[in-house]
Amino acid sequence: MLTLAGIRLLSVRKNSSETASVKTVRLGGELEAVPGQFVMVWVPGKDEFPMSVSYPGSNFGITYQVLGEGTRALAEMANGKKVGIRGPYGRGFSIKGRKLLMIGGGVGMAPIAPLVDIARAKRLSVDLVIGAKTSDDLLFERRATRAGAKVHISTDDGTKGFKGFASELATELLDSAGPDHVFACGPEKMIVKIVAAASRRKIPMQASLERHMKCGIGICDSCALDGVHVCKEGPVFPLEELRKFGDLGVTKLDPAGRRVPV
Ligand SMILES: Cc1cc2nc3c(=O)[nH]c(=O)nc-3n(C[C@H](O)[C@H](O)[C@H](O)COP(=O)(O)OP(=O)(O)OC[C@H]3O[C@@H](n4cnc5c(N)ncnc54)[C@H](O)[C@@H]3O)c2cc1C
Repeated sequence: MLTLAGIRLLSVRKNSSETASVKTVRLGGELEAVPGQFVMVWVPGKDEFPMSVSYPGSNFGITYQVLGEGTRALAEMANGKKVGIRGPYGRGFSIKGRKLLMIGGGVGMAPIAPLVDIARAKRLSVDLVIGAKTSDDLLFERRATRAGAKVHISTDDGTKGFKGFASELATELLDSAGPDHVFACGPEKMIVKIVAAASRRKIPMQASLERHMKCGIGICDSCALDGVHVCKEGPVFPLEELRKFGDLGVTKLDPAGRRVPV
């Protein structure tokens, strides 16, 4: 393993498809991270971008949606190619409670899957909502079932499970499953709805937020949300902090630093 100015150069061990647009890359190396913490991934010659750690530990990996130039280049990397990794960075999820409700919307399942693994290893009860646009896009259903979570599926088009948004199914479960703590990662509109539902019922929660990140260590201001560096003070925030963000679900900074709607 090579280290270059704080960047560990790791080799691609396996780069395989989870769905038509999501892949998991395993990088030869050990990286311990709390679920919700992220790494900055450098694809030499292309880009550097943040990714949650979906497989912490000795068979370290990340799970990524193939979107633009950086992730497209990563998707094409064959075994043995080198990727630069900085981190892990930020505040991850902190397991609290005994009867947990977790929600992973789309690729938001990436940090929720290892959280399920750890909670189940502690023999905690986990109701998990996996949400996706359609059944082909569902992530980590088998992994979570094997870990012993009670898995609830929601698809926007009704091709599997509950027809509708993950936030609607999660709101039903807030009442029927009786969780004492909620954990969420996914689209910001989903998080805003779950924050409102958990607040009304006075159930504590934590959610992971996404903002444009460049430095990853609280210097560049690119990820600022109401003056808070999401990369350093987050990306996971507890309910009392989430409720204070006036810009949550409203605006964010784009890569050029312009304020744009979420
Ligand atoms: C803390 C954190 C954890 C993340 N974890 C995951 C994950 O586990 N899996 C996953 O698929 N995606 C994750 N993302 C989003 C991921 O960083 C972007 O999808 C990725 O950067 C896209 O890069 P690209 O070059 O392929 O696409 P681009 O064409 O450059 O961008 C596509 C979209 O990705 C987002 N994006 C691009 N660059 C950044 C950046 N530096 N920081 C934040 N967002 C960016 C923007 O919304 C942009 O519109 C995470 C983001 C954050 C902030």
